[in-house]
Amino acid sequence: MMQLPKPIRASDRDLFKCPAQWFITRAYPEEMPKAVWFPKGTAIHSGIEQMIGGESLQLAIAYAQLEVENLDAELWSKTDPDQVTLDQSVVNCLTTWYNQVHPESKERNPEYTNLAWPPRTEVKVEGEIGGNSYCTTIDAIFGADEVDIVDWKSGASRSDSVQLWIYQYLVTKLMGLKVRSSWFHNVHLGKIQMADPYPGDAVVATLLDAVANIKYGYAYPPLPDWYCNYCVARSKCPLFGGDTNLSPSNIEWVTETGEEK
Ligand code: SF4
Repeated sequence: MMQLPKPIRASDRDLFKCPAQWFITRAYPEEMPKAVWFPKGTAIHSGIEQMIGGESLQLAIAYAQLEVENLDAELWSKTDPDQVTLDQSVVNCLTTWYNQVHPESKERNPEYTNLAWPPRTEVKVEGEIGGNSYCTTIDAIFGADEVDIVDWKSGASRSDSVQLWIYQYLVTKLMGLKVRSSWFHNVHLGKIQMADPYPGDAVVATLLDAVANIKYGYAYPPLPDWYCNYCVARSKCPLFGGDTNLSPSNIEWVTETGEEK
């Protein structure tokens, strides 16, 4: 039996992009090419948590550099568009975060100046709505009853507002909070991207129902597009010679959630 996490996460919206890629990357994680961006992101987030907990920028950088020291530096150098070392990238991201977010910085971004400090970080939001179970983790929630949601990104990947809409929907429905605003803050690029206007609960609920229908549908067709050339699941994709059964009937949906973005 193949075990996959049952609760719907914000990242399950990837099912709209290519269901086959969604399935292959989750069913065969150990066979995917070793990525460096994901563990580097984890190191950056733990460095941010250290600073929110009161540690200095220098200590946060030292801790994060320890976390990345065993990663594949050669693979990193092939994929990093900035062509800096992994160590330097950690320094850049955490320094940008400190400068733009930390209350003691003189270059703090105006978006943060009126927010209560410190935020809640790594907030797990879970529960049931309309027969579906959800579990997702939000980087930072500022405020108490009326809140601002922030997703700190440490890579060059593009962001879409759907992720923030799902956060808003779940925070409202499962935590009873009112969301004032939400944004991505890319600490790799030093840029803030506000969410597009919230389309309303009914639209997000419909979208999440559509995600659930594909996720629990036991069929994950390939949807080829230009990104196939960069797809980490390509070697196992039937369209490119892989032999993965994309209509698996042996899935056991488990509550174990692992990484829950
Ligand atoms: S190679 Fe293309 S079609 Fe195949 S899984 Fe990847 S994105 Fe989907």
